[in-house]
Amino acid sequence: MEGVLDVDVCVVGGGVTGLSTAYHLKNLDRHVSVALLESEVVGFGASGRNAGQLIVAFGESDFKAQMKRHGTAKLREAYTYIQEGISTIEALIDEHDIDCDHEQTGYFEMGLRADGNRTLDEYLAFCRKIGQDSFLEPIPEAEVARSFQSPYFGRAVFDRRGGQFNPLKYLRALKLVAQRSGVQVHENSPVVCIEREASCIRLHTGSGTLRCQKLVVATNAYSHLLPGLEDLGMRRSQSPVFVYANVTEPLSESHWRALNWPRRAGVNLMSKLFYSFAPTRDGRLLYVGGYYARVPHGNEMSPDISSDFLREGPRHLASFFPTLSDLRTVQSWGGPISTTRDFIPHVGLFADDRIGYANGCWGHGMPLGARNGRTLAGLMLNRQATDAESWLVTRNKIDWPSRMIVSPVFRGLSAAMRRDIRKIGRKMRPRLVFEK
Ligand SMILES: Cc1cc2nc3c(=O)[nH]c(=O)nc-3n(C[C@H](O)[C@H](O)[C@H](O)COP(=O)(O)OP(=O)(O)OC[C@H]3O[C@@H](n4cnc5c(N)ncnc54)[C@H](O)[C@@H]3O)c2cc1C
Repeated sequence: MEGVLDVDVCVVGGGVTGLSTAYHLKNLDRHVSVALLESEVVGFGASGRNAGQLIVAFGESDFKAQMKRHGTAKLREAYTYIQEGISTIEALIDEHDIDCDHEQTGYFEMGLRADGNRTLDEYLAFCRKIGQDSFLEPIPEAEVARSFQSPYFGRAVFDRRGGQFNPLKYLRALKLVAQRSGVQVHENSPVVCIEREASCIRLHTGSGTLRCQKLVVATNAYSHLLPGLEDLGMRRSQSPVFVYANVTEPLSESHWRALNWPRRAGVNLMSKLFYSFAPTRDGRLLYVGGYYARVPHGNEMSPDISSDFLREGPRHLASFFPTLSDLRTVQSWGGPISTTRDFIPHVGLFADDRIGYANGCWGHGMPLGARNGRTLAGLMLNRQATDAESWLVTRNKIDWPSRMIVSPVFRGLSAAMRRDIRKIGRKMRPRLVFEK
Protein backbone atom coordinates (compact mmCIF):
# COMPACT_ATOMS: atom_id res chain seq x y z
CA MET A 1 0.00 0.00 0.00
CA GLU A 2 1.31 3.40 -0.92
CA GLY A 3 0.10 6.94 -0.34
CA VAL A 4 -2.96 7.78 1.72
CA LEU A 5 -6.09 5.68 1.77
CA ASP A 6 -9.45 6.24 3.51
CA VAL A 7 -11.80 3.32 4.17
CA ASP A 8 -14.65 2.48 6.53
CA VAL A 9 -13.11 -0.75 7.84
CA CYS A 10 -9.52 -1.97 7.71
CA VAL A 11 -8.62 -5.62 8.35
CA VAL A 12 -5.03 -6.41 9.34
CA GLY A 13 -3.91 -9.96 8.50
CA GLY A 14 -4.44 -11.99 5.34
CA GLY A 15 -5.10 -15.40 6.91
CA VAL A 16 -8.40 -17.25 7.03
CA THR A 17 -9.71 -14.94 9.78
CA GLY A 18 -8.84 -11.68 8.01
CA LEU A 19 -10.07 -12.77 4.58
CA SER A 20 -13.27 -14.21 6.02
CA THR A 21 -13.89 -10.93 7.88
CA ALA A 22 -13.29 -8.83 4.75
CA TYR A 23 -15.51 -11.10 2.63
CA HIS A 24 -18.37 -11.06 5.13
CA LEU A 25 -18.18 -7.30 5.62
CA LYS A 26 -18.86 -6.80 1.92
CA ASN A 27 -21.44 -9.55 1.96
CA LEU A 28 -23.37 -7.83 4.76
CA ASP A 29 -23.12 -4.36 3.25
CA ARG A 30 -21.73 -3.85 -0.23
CA HIS A 31 -21.54 -0.06 0.36
CA VAL A 32 -19.00 -0.34 3.17
CA SER A 33 -15.42 0.27 1.97
CA VAL A 34 -12.95 -2.38 3.15
CA ALA A 35 -9.17 -2.70 2.88
CA LEU A 36 -7.07 -5.67 4.00
CA LEU A 37 -3.39 -5.19 4.85
CA GLU A 38 -1.10 -8.22 4.89
CA SER A 39 2.57 -7.88 5.80
CA GLU A 40 3.71 -10.60 3.37
CA VAL A 41 1.28 -12.39 1.05
CA VAL A 42 -2.14 -13.87 1.69
CA GLY A 43 -1.68 -17.22 3.49
CA PHE A 44 1.83 -16.40 4.71
CA GLY A 45 0.87 -17.29 8.32
CA ALA A 46 -0.50 -20.59 9.62
CA SER A 47 -3.48 -20.37 7.24
CA GLY A 48 -1.30 -21.22 4.24
CA ARG A 49 0.92 -23.69 6.08
CA ASN A 50 -1.47 -26.09 7.74
CA ALA A 51 -2.54 -29.66 7.11
CA GLY A 52 -5.88 -28.69 5.57
CA GLN A 53 -8.04 -30.85 7.80
CA LEU A 54 -11.51 -29.48 8.45
CA ILE A 55 -12.45 -30.93 11.80
CA VAL A 56 -14.64 -30.02 14.75
CA ALA A 57 -12.23 -29.38 17.62
CA PHE A 58 -12.27 -26.82 20.40
CA GLY A 59 -10.29 -25.95 23.53
CA GLU A 60 -7.91 -28.21 25.39
CA SER A 61 -7.67 -31.94 24.74
CA ASP A 62 -8.33 -32.82 28.41
CA PHE A 63 -12.06 -33.30 27.93
CA LYS A 64 -12.83 -33.84 31.62
CA ALA A 65 -11.16 -30.53 32.44
CA GLN A 66 -13.08 -28.79 29.63
CA MET A 67 -16.38 -30.08 30.97
CA LYS A 68 -15.53 -29.07 34.53
CA ARG A 69 -14.48 -25.59 33.48
CA HIS A 70 -17.26 -24.68 31.04
CA GLY A 71 -20.20 -27.05 31.49
CA THR A 72 -22.49 -28.64 28.92
CA ALA A 73 -24.39 -25.61 27.61
CA LYS A 74 -21.32 -23.50 26.81
CA LEU A 75 -19.50 -26.40 25.18
CA ARG A 76 -22.51 -27.30 23.08
CA GLU A 77 -22.52 -23.72 21.81
CA ALA A 78 -18.76 -23.75 21.17
CA TYR A 79 -18.82 -26.98 19.18
CA THR A 80 -21.77 -25.70 17.13
CA TYR A 81 -19.76 -22.54 16.44
CA ILE A 82 -16.86 -24.60 15.01
CA GLN A 83 -19.23 -26.73 12.98
CA GLU A 84 -20.65 -23.52 11.51
CA GLY A 85 -17.08 -22.61 10.56
CA ILE A 86 -16.83 -25.75 8.44
CA SER A 87 -20.20 -24.95 6.84
CA THR A 88 -18.98 -21.40 6.15
CA ILE A 89 -15.94 -22.71 4.27
CA GLU A 90 -17.94 -25.36 2.41
CA ALA A 91 -20.61 -22.84 1.40
CA LEU A 92 -18.00 -20.42 0.04
CA ILE A 93 -16.31 -23.21 -1.93
CA ASP A 94 -19.68 -24.19 -3.45
CA GLU A 95 -20.96 -20.69 -4.10
CA HIS A 96 -17.78 -19.47 -5.77
CA ASP A 97 -16.75 -22.77 -7.29
CA ILE A 98 -13.37 -22.58 -5.55
CA ASP A 99 -10.84 -25.11 -6.81
CA CYS A 100 -8.96 -26.11 -3.64
CA ASP A 101 -8.92 -29.94 -3.67
CA HIS A 102 -11.81 -29.94 -1.22
CA GLU A 103 -13.25 -33.33 -0.29
CA GLN A 104 -15.96 -34.05 2.26
CA THR A 105 -14.31 -37.22 3.48
CA GLY A 106 -15.11 -36.89 7.18
CA TYR A 107 -12.18 -37.79 9.47
CA PHE A 108 -11.00 -40.27 12.08
CA GLU A 109 -10.21 -39.55 15.70
CA MET A 110 -7.83 -42.39 16.50
CA GLY A 111 -7.13 -44.04 19.85
CA LEU A 112 -3.62 -45.22 20.70
CA ARG A 113 -3.21 -48.81 21.93
CA ALA A 114 -0.24 -47.84 24.14
CA ASP A 115 -2.39 -45.60 26.34
CA GLY A 116 -5.38 -47.93 26.27
CA ASN A 117 -7.50 -45.64 24.02
CA ARG A 118 -8.01 -43.52 27.12
CA THR A 119 -8.32 -40.10 25.47
CA LEU A 120 -10.57 -41.51 22.75
CA ASP A 121 -12.96 -42.98 25.32
CA GLU A 122 -13.03 -39.69 27.24
CA TYR A 123 -13.75 -37.88 23.98
CA LEU A 124 -16.67 -40.15 23.15
CA ALA A 125 -18.20 -39.72 26.62
CA PHE A 126 -17.70 -35.95 26.29
CA CYS A 127 -19.40 -35.84 22.86
CA ARG A 128 -22.38 -37.77 24.23
CA LYS A 129 -22.80 -35.19 27.00
CA ILE A 130 -22.76 -32.22 24.63
CA GLY A 131 -24.95 -33.87 22.00
CA GLN A 132 -22.26 -34.28 19.33
CA ASP A 133 -22.35 -38.06 19.17
CA SER A 134 -24.97 -38.34 16.41
CA PHE A 135 -22.21 -37.41 13.92
CA LEU A 136 -19.88 -40.10 15.20
CA GLU A 137 -19.43 -43.76 14.37
CA PRO A 138 -17.24 -45.80 16.74
CA ILE A 139 -14.92 -48.21 14.88
CA PRO A 140 -13.68 -51.33 16.70
CA GLU A 141 -9.98 -52.12 16.94
CA ALA A 142 -10.07 -55.11 14.56
CA GLU A 143 -11.62 -52.99 11.82
CA VAL A 144 -9.07 -50.21 12.38
CA ALA A 145 -6.25 -52.80 12.14
CA ARG A 146 -7.64 -54.07 8.82
CA SER A 147 -8.07 -50.55 7.47
CA PHE A 148 -4.84 -48.82 8.40
CA GLN A 149 -2.34 -51.65 8.93
CA SER A 150 -0.82 -49.75 11.86
CA PRO A 151 0.56 -51.56 14.92
CA TYR A 152 -0.12 -48.48 17.06
CA PHE A 153 -3.72 -47.60 16.32
CA GLY A 154 -6.43 -48.74 18.71
CA ARG A 155 -10.14 -48.02 18.40
CA ALA A 156 -11.34 -45.06 16.36
CA VAL A 157 -14.27 -42.73 15.94
CA PHE A 158 -15.28 -41.68 12.45
CA ASP A 159 -16.78 -38.18 12.29
CA ARG A 160 -18.75 -37.72 9.11
CA ARG A 161 -18.49 -33.90 9.21
CA GLY A 162 -15.65 -32.00 7.59
CA GLY A 163 -12.89 -33.33 5.42
CA GLN A 164 -9.88 -31.84 3.75
CA PHE A 165 -8.76 -29.11 1.40
CA ASN A 166 -5.68 -27.28 0.24
CA PRO A 167 -5.80 -24.21 2.50
CA LEU A 168 -3.45 -22.07 0.43
CA LYS A 169 -5.41 -22.65 -2.78
CA TYR A 170 -8.56 -21.80 -0.84
CA LEU A 171 -7.13 -18.56 0.52
CA ARG A 172 -5.75 -17.40 -2.82
CA ALA A 173 -9.17 -17.98 -4.38
CA LEU A 174 -10.95 -16.27 -1.48
CA LYS A 175 -8.69 -13.26 -1.98
CA LEU A 176 -9.93 -13.00 -5.59
CA VAL A 177 -13.55 -13.43 -4.50
CA ALA A 178 -13.12 -10.68 -1.89
CA GLN A 179 -11.43 -8.41 -4.44
CA ARG A 180 -14.26 -8.97 -6.90
CA SER A 181 -16.73 -7.86 -4.24
CA GLY A 182 -14.71 -4.67 -3.77
CA VAL A 183 -12.26 -5.42 -0.95
CA GLN A 184 -8.90 -3.71 -1.53
CA VAL A 185 -6.23 -6.29 -0.71
CA HIS A 186 -2.74 -4.89 -0.11
CA GLU A 187 0.00 -7.49 0.29
CA ASN A 188 3.60 -6.70 1.31
CA SER A 189 2.10 -4.01 3.55
CA PRO A 190 3.12 -4.60 7.18
CA VAL A 191 1.33 -2.39 9.70
CA VAL A 192 4.12 -0.85 11.75
CA CYS A 193 2.20 1.71 13.78
CA ILE A 194 -1.43 2.22 14.84
CA GLU A 195 -2.65 5.58 16.14
CA ARG A 196 -6.10 5.97 17.62
CA GLU A 197 -7.62 9.40 17.29
CA ALA A 198 -11.13 10.59 18.09
CA SER A 199 -12.09 10.99 14.42
CA CYS A 200 -10.33 7.93 12.94
CA ILE A 201 -7.78 5.17 13.39
CA ARG A 202 -4.56 5.71 11.49
CA LEU A 203 -2.35 2.84 10.33
CA HIS A 204 1.13 3.29 8.93
CA THR A 205 2.78 0.73 6.69
CA GLY A 206 6.10 2.39 5.99
CA SER A 207 5.14 3.41 2.47
CA GLY A 208 1.59 4.50 3.14
CA THR A 209 -1.02 5.64 5.64
CA LEU A 210 -4.52 4.27 5.95
CA ARG A 211 -7.30 6.05 7.81
CA CYS A 212 -10.33 4.03 8.88
CA GLN A 213 -13.35 4.30 11.14
CA LYS A 214 -13.14 0.69 12.28
CA LEU A 215 -10.34 -1.82 12.51
CA VAL A 216 -10.16 -5.61 12.76
CA VAL A 217 -6.93 -7.13 14.00
CA ALA A 218 -6.73 -10.66 12.59
CA THR A 219 -3.05 -11.30 13.27
CA ASN A 220 -3.39 -14.41 15.49
CA ALA A 221 0.07 -15.60 16.61
CA TYR A 222 1.66 -12.28 15.59
CA SER A 223 -0.75 -10.17 17.68
CA HIS A 224 1.70 -9.42 20.52
CA LEU A 225 3.95 -7.61 18.03
CA LEU A 226 1.36 -5.16 16.74
CA PRO A 227 2.38 -1.67 17.89
CA GLY A 228 -0.20 0.80 19.18
CA LEU A 229 -2.68 -1.53 20.89
CA GLU A 230 -0.63 -2.32 24.01
CA ASP A 231 -2.97 -0.40 26.33
CA LEU A 232 -5.88 -2.56 25.11
CA GLY A 233 -4.15 -5.70 26.37
CA MET A 234 -2.95 -7.01 23.01
CA ARG A 235 0.57 -7.94 24.08
CA ARG A 236 -0.20 -10.70 26.54
CA SER A 237 -3.54 -12.09 25.45
CA GLN A 238 -1.89 -14.87 23.40
CA SER A 239 1.48 -16.48 22.90
CA PRO A 240 2.85 -17.99 19.66
CA VAL A 241 3.96 -21.60 19.22
CA PHE A 242 5.49 -23.02 16.04
CA VAL A 243 4.14 -26.33 14.73
CA TYR A 244 5.75 -28.43 11.98
CA ALA A 245 4.55 -30.50 9.04
CA ASN A 246 6.20 -32.96 6.65
CA VAL A 247 4.83 -34.22 3.36
CA THR A 248 5.80 -37.41 1.53
CA GLU A 249 6.26 -38.17 -2.13
CA PRO A 250 3.03 -39.48 -3.73
CA LEU A 251 2.13 -43.00 -2.59
CA SER A 252 1.87 -45.56 -5.35
CA GLU A 253 -1.48 -47.27 -5.98
CA SER A 254 0.01 -50.44 -4.42
CA HIS A 255 0.86 -48.47 -1.27
CA TRP A 256 -2.71 -47.22 -1.04
CA ARG A 257 -4.07 -50.72 -1.71
CA ALA A 258 -1.85 -52.19 1.01
CA LEU A 259 -2.97 -49.53 3.45
CA ASN A 260 -6.63 -49.92 2.59
CA TRP A 261 -7.20 -46.41 4.09
CA PRO A 262 -10.98 -45.75 4.22
CA ARG A 263 -12.15 -42.75 2.17
CA ARG A 264 -8.58 -41.39 2.37
CA ALA A 265 -9.89 -39.35 5.28
CA GLY A 266 -7.61 -37.52 7.73
CA VAL A 267 -6.53 -39.22 10.96
CA ASN A 268 -5.88 -37.42 14.26
CA LEU A 269 -4.30 -39.27 17.14
CA MET A 270 -6.33 -38.85 20.31
CA SER A 271 -3.39 -39.04 22.64
CA LYS A 272 -0.72 -36.88 24.25
CA LEU A 273 1.44 -38.11 21.38
CA PHE A 274 -0.25 -35.74 18.98
CA TYR A 275 0.24 -36.81 15.39
CA SER A 276 -2.09 -36.18 12.49
CA PHE A 277 -2.01 -37.74 9.03
CA ALA A 278 -3.79 -36.21 6.07
CA PRO A 279 -3.84 -37.84 2.63
CA THR A 280 -3.66 -35.10 -0.02
CA ARG A 281 -5.58 -34.99 -3.28
CA ASP A 282 -2.40 -35.90 -5.21
CA GLY A 283 -1.88 -39.02 -3.10
CA ARG A 284 0.74 -37.89 -0.58
CA LEU A 285 0.63 -38.11 3.21
CA LEU A 286 0.92 -34.79 5.01
CA TYR A 287 1.74 -35.34 8.66
CA VAL A 288 2.07 -33.00 11.64
CA GLY A 289 3.96 -33.87 14.82
CA GLY A 290 2.89 -32.07 17.98
CA TYR A 291 5.92 -33.36 19.91
CA TYR A 292 8.12 -31.03 17.88
CA ALA A 293 6.19 -27.81 18.64
CA ARG A 294 8.50 -24.96 19.62
CA VAL A 295 8.06 -21.64 21.43
CA PRO A 296 9.89 -18.90 19.50
CA HIS A 297 12.68 -16.97 21.20
CA GLY A 298 11.80 -13.38 22.04
CA ASN A 299 10.02 -11.65 19.18
CA GLU A 300 11.51 -13.76 16.39
CA MET A 301 8.64 -15.05 14.23
CA SER A 302 10.16 -16.16 10.95
CA PRO A 303 8.81 -19.54 9.86
CA ASP A 304 11.46 -22.22 9.84
CA ILE A 305 11.97 -25.95 9.64
CA SER A 306 12.37 -28.32 12.59
CA SER A 307 15.50 -30.32 11.84
CA ASP A 308 14.43 -32.85 14.53
CA PHE A 309 11.07 -33.42 12.87
CA LEU A 310 12.62 -33.55 9.42
CA ARG A 311 15.00 -36.25 10.66
CA GLU A 312 12.75 -38.25 13.01
CA GLY A 313 9.37 -37.76 11.31
CA PRO A 314 10.01 -40.20 8.43
CA ARG A 315 11.14 -42.88 10.89
CA HIS A 316 8.02 -42.36 12.97
CA LEU A 317 5.87 -42.50 9.85
CA ALA A 318 7.44 -45.84 8.95
CA SER A 319 6.74 -47.10 12.49
CA PHE A 320 3.11 -45.99 12.32
CA PHE A 321 2.69 -47.49 8.84
CA PRO A 322 5.25 -50.27 8.24
CA THR A 323 4.00 -50.69 4.66
CA LEU A 324 5.33 -47.17 3.97
CA SER A 325 8.90 -47.78 5.18
CA ASP A 326 10.31 -47.12 1.69
CA LEU A 327 8.42 -43.82 1.29
CA ARG A 328 10.42 -40.57 1.11
CA THR A 329 9.45 -37.39 2.94
CA VAL A 330 10.08 -34.61 0.46
CA GLN A 331 9.17 -31.34 2.13
CA SER A 332 9.04 -29.89 5.62
CA TRP A 333 7.78 -26.56 6.98
CA GLY A 334 6.47 -24.79 10.06
CA GLY A 335 3.93 -22.17 10.99
CA PRO A 336 2.84 -20.18 14.05
CA ILE A 337 -0.29 -21.01 16.00
CA SER A 338 -1.53 -18.94 18.91
CA THR A 339 -2.24 -20.13 22.44
CA THR A 340 -4.30 -18.50 25.18
CA ARG A 341 -4.00 -19.17 28.92
CA ASP A 342 -7.23 -21.19 29.02
CA PHE A 343 -6.96 -22.65 25.48
CA ILE A 344 -10.16 -20.84 24.48
CA PRO A 345 -9.79 -18.52 21.48
CA HIS A 346 -10.39 -14.80 21.65
CA VAL A 347 -12.80 -12.92 19.42
CA GLY A 348 -14.64 -9.69 20.08
CA LEU A 349 -14.34 -5.94 20.57
CA PHE A 350 -11.80 -4.05 22.65
CA ALA A 351 -12.80 -1.39 25.20
CA ASP A 352 -12.31 0.99 22.25
CA ASP A 353 -15.17 -0.71 20.45
CA ARG A 354 -14.16 0.57 17.04
CA ILE A 355 -11.57 -2.23 17.09
CA GLY A 356 -12.28 -5.95 16.79
CA TYR A 357 -9.81 -8.79 17.35
CA ALA A 358 -9.43 -12.53 16.90
CA ASN A 359 -6.52 -14.62 18.13
CA GLY A 360 -5.82 -17.77 20.09
CA CYS A 361 -6.53 -19.86 16.99
CA TRP A 362 -4.39 -22.88 17.55
CA GLY A 363 -4.80 -26.57 16.63
CA HIS A 364 -7.63 -26.72 14.15
CA GLY A 365 -8.22 -23.06 13.50
CA MET A 366 -9.37 -22.96 9.88
CA PRO A 367 -13.07 -23.47 10.70
CA LEU A 368 -12.73 -21.26 13.76
CA GLY A 369 -11.09 -18.46 11.75
CA ALA A 370 -13.76 -18.67 9.06
CA ARG A 371 -16.52 -18.45 11.67
CA ASN A 372 -14.76 -15.67 13.58
CA GLY A 373 -14.69 -13.69 10.33
CA ARG A 374 -18.49 -13.83 10.22
CA THR A 375 -18.69 -12.74 13.86
CA LEU A 376 -16.28 -9.85 13.41
CA ALA A 377 -18.02 -8.57 10.29
CA GLY A 378 -21.31 -8.57 12.20
CA LEU A 379 -19.76 -6.78 15.19
CA MET A 380 -18.20 -4.11 12.98
CA LEU A 381 -21.53 -3.36 11.30
CA ASN A 382 -23.68 -3.87 14.42
CA ARG A 383 -25.44 -6.86 12.88
CA GLN A 384 -25.95 -10.47 14.01
CA ALA A 385 -26.89 -9.74 17.62
CA THR A 386 -26.86 -13.45 18.55
CA ASP A 387 -23.11 -13.62 17.90
CA ALA A 388 -22.55 -10.60 20.14
CA GLU A 389 -24.35 -12.41 22.96
CA SER A 390 -22.32 -15.60 22.69
CA TRP A 391 -20.11 -16.42 25.70
CA LEU A 392 -17.22 -16.82 23.24
CA VAL A 393 -17.42 -13.20 22.12
CA THR A 394 -15.70 -10.41 24.08
CA ARG A 395 -15.17 -12.63 27.12
CA ASN A 396 -12.72 -11.79 29.90
CA LYS A 397 -9.20 -12.54 28.76
CA ILE A 398 -6.66 -14.10 31.10
CA ASP A 399 -3.28 -12.62 30.26
CA TRP A 400 -0.05 -14.53 29.93
CA PRO A 401 2.72 -13.11 32.10
CA SER A 402 5.41 -11.16 30.25
CA ARG A 403 7.28 -13.06 27.51
CA MET A 404 10.41 -12.95 29.67
CA ILE A 405 8.56 -15.34 32.00
CA VAL A 406 6.35 -17.11 29.46
CA SER A 407 9.17 -18.38 27.23
CA PRO A 408 11.02 -20.35 29.95
CA VAL A 409 7.72 -21.53 31.49
CA PHE A 410 6.55 -22.80 28.10
CA ARG A 411 9.85 -24.52 27.53
CA GLY A 412 9.59 -26.17 30.97
CA LEU A 413 6.02 -27.30 30.24
CA SER A 414 6.91 -28.68 26.83
CA ALA A 415 9.91 -30.54 28.34
CA ALA A 416 7.52 -32.15 30.86
CA MET A 417 5.09 -33.05 28.05
CA ARG A 418 7.93 -34.58 26.08
CA ARG A 419 8.85 -36.76 29.04
CA ASP A 420 5.24 -38.02 29.18
CA ILE A 421 5.20 -38.63 25.44
CA ARG A 422 8.47 -40.56 25.55
CA LYS A 423 6.93 -42.79 28.21
CA ILE A 424 4.12 -43.57 25.77
CA GLY A 425 6.71 -44.13 23.00
CA ARG A 426 8.46 -46.71 25.18
CA LYS A 427 5.19 -48.61 25.67
CA MET A 428 4.56 -48.81 21.93
CA ARG A 429 5.43 -52.03 20.11
CA PRO A 430 7.61 -51.71 18.13
CA ARG A 431 8.99 -48.97 20.35
CA LEU A 432 8.75 -45.42 19.03
CA VAL A 433 12.20 -43.87 19.29
CA PHE A 434 12.91 -40.19 19.91
CA GLU A 435 16.57 -39.32 19.49
CA LYS A 436 17.04 -36.67 22.18
C1 LIG B 1 1.71 -27.06 10.72
C2 LIG B 1 0.30 -26.64 11.02
C3 LIG B 1 -0.75 -27.53 10.81
C4 LIG B 1 -2.06 -27.13 11.08
N1 LIG B 1 -3.08 -27.98 10.73
C5 LIG B 1 -4.35 -27.52 10.74
C6 LIG B 1 -5.40 -28.29 10.17
O1 LIG B 1 -5.19 -29.38 9.63
N2 LIG B 1 -6.67 -27.79 10.22
C7 LIG B 1 -6.94 -26.56 10.79
O2 LIG B 1 -8.11 -26.17 10.83
N3 LIG B 1 -5.96 -25.80 11.33
C8 LIG B 1 -4.67 -26.23 11.31
N4 LIG B 1 -3.67 -25.45 11.80
C9 LIG B 1 -4.02 -24.18 12.52
C10 LIG B 1 -4.48 -23.09 11.56
O3 LIG B 1 -3.62 -23.01 10.46
C11 LIG B 1 -4.54 -21.73 12.30
O4 LIG B 1 -5.28 -21.86 13.49
C12 LIG B 1 -5.22 -20.68 11.41
O5 LIG B 1 -4.63 -20.66 10.15
C13 LIG B 1 -5.13 -19.28 12.02
O6 LIG B 1 -5.59 -18.37 11.03
P1 LIG B 1 -5.48 -16.79 11.23
O7 LIG B 1 -6.01 -16.15 10.01
O8 LIG B 1 -6.14 -16.43 12.52
O9 LIG B 1 -3.91 -16.51 11.41
P2 LIG B 1 -2.75 -16.50 10.30
O10 LIG B 1 -3.02 -17.43 9.21
O11 LIG B 1 -1.45 -16.65 11.04
O12 LIG B 1 -2.85 -15.04 9.69
C14 LIG B 1 -2.33 -13.89 10.32
C15 LIG B 1 -1.73 -13.02 9.23
O13 LIG B 1 -1.42 -11.74 9.77
C16 LIG B 1 -0.28 -11.25 9.09
N5 LIG B 1 0.32 -10.20 9.91
C17 LIG B 1 0.93 -10.33 11.10
N6 LIG B 1 1.35 -9.14 11.55
C18 LIG B 1 0.99 -8.22 10.61
C19 LIG B 1 1.17 -6.82 10.50
N7 LIG B 1 1.80 -6.09 11.44
N8 LIG B 1 0.67 -6.19 9.39
C20 LIG B 1 0.04 -6.89 8.42
N9 LIG B 1 -0.14 -8.23 8.49
C21 LIG B 1 0.32 -8.89 9.57
C22 LIG B 1 0.60 -12.49 8.95
O14 LIG B 1 1.57 -12.34 7.92
C23 LIG B 1 -0.43 -13.58 8.65
O15 LIG B 1 -0.58 -13.80 7.26
C24 LIG B 1 -2.34 -25.83 11.61
C25 LIG B 1 -1.28 -24.94 11.83
C26 LIG B 1 0.03 -25.33 11.54
C27 LIG B 1 1.13 -24.34 11.77
